[in-house]
Amino acid sequence: MALYDTIIIGSGPAGLTAAIYSTRANLKTLVVAGAVAGGQLMLTTDVENYPGFPKGILGPELMELWRQQAERFKAEFLDDNVTKVDFSTRPFKIWTSDQVHEGRTVIIATGANAKYLGLPNEDRLKGRGVSACATCDGFFMKGLDVVVVGGGDTAMEESLYLSKLCKTVTVVHRRNEFRASKIMQDRLFRTPNVKVIWDSEIVDVLGEARVEGVRIRNVRTGATTDIAARGLFLAIGHRPATEVFRTQLELEKDYIVLKPHDGFATATSVDGVFAAGDVHDFRYRQAVTAAGFGCMAALDAEHWLQRHGA
Ligand code: NAP
Repeated sequence: MALYDTIIIGSGPAGLTAAIYSTRANLKTLVVAGAVAGGQLMLTTDVENYPGFPKGILGPELMELWRQQAERFKAEFLDDNVTKVDFSTRPFKIWTSDQVHEGRTVIIATGANAKYLGLPNEDRLKGRGVSACATCDGFFMKGLDVVVVGGGDTAMEESLYLSKLCKTVTVVHRRNEFRASKIMQDRLFRTPNVKVIWDSEIVDVLGEARVEGVRIRNVRTGATTDIAARGLFLAIGHRPATEVFRTQLELEKDYIVLKPHDGFATATSVDGVFAAGDVHDFRYRQAVTAAGFGCMAALDAEHWLQRHGA
């Protein structure tokens, strides 16, 4: 069984950036990329906010270039999922379908997936007006009417962001009160081009080639109404990919908890295991911030190995 200096789990912006930094620091690196490699950007069309691409770039193309860059420095890739980990022994053990791998350090960059509603036409219209990221896709909705679904802080934040770009923002929430913090709610209520529809759920998103509206149902009366809108923004939470780490690391609401110590900003509750990107960061969730965290985690792993004489 090969022993790696670092095993990176995940191949989105955080994982691949970690791989570029660790291999360039001469660490023997394995990237367990996932059976479906590349992360959330593989599901995105135009990426216009990643620095260095003045004309924008397609999400899958960006991830392909990123992977080529990591492979250039001889990171080994395994397109498989991690099925089990053991962080109680050293070196750490990572299982994939039919192999076990050993790493002196581990960087977890498995990301988080936005929750979707499971509407009949939601999948078909993803990237054509259905989005789970206002920062990414709000720009395409300039001057248009959009709907946001959700009642948490993310829904408030996304709606406020969109209110600066869009003509109107309609927040549809399934109850008659928000769970978001008071300060965020107040900001939302004070914004003139934002309105709220309470006690309502979205039953479908309408449109052929692109989103043209949403159908909502009042949960008290059962009445359905169609609202014209060019965008539907989901803000109903994210699901971090942490299932296999549940018994091994400290998690909060399924996110990995960072435990910075001794200058290791990306440390987790297990010494020598680091985390990068959306798997711990519910706040920023951008490709560029995930990349930054990936860089930090690789530098942390490198310094950790130096300090432990490996
Ligand atoms: P969240 O707090 O879990 O809120 C999710 C919202 O979506 C809830 O209002 C929920 O409705 C609604 N929802 C869930 N499933 C739904 C469904 N199937 N259909 C319709 N509505 C559905 O998630 P979040 O807003 O993403 O926030 C996650 C964490 O990050 C929170 O701890 C939050 O405070 C934090 N956060 C903080 C900031 C900040 O500090 N600025 C910004 C963003 C996020 P119910 O209310 O009826 O359950």
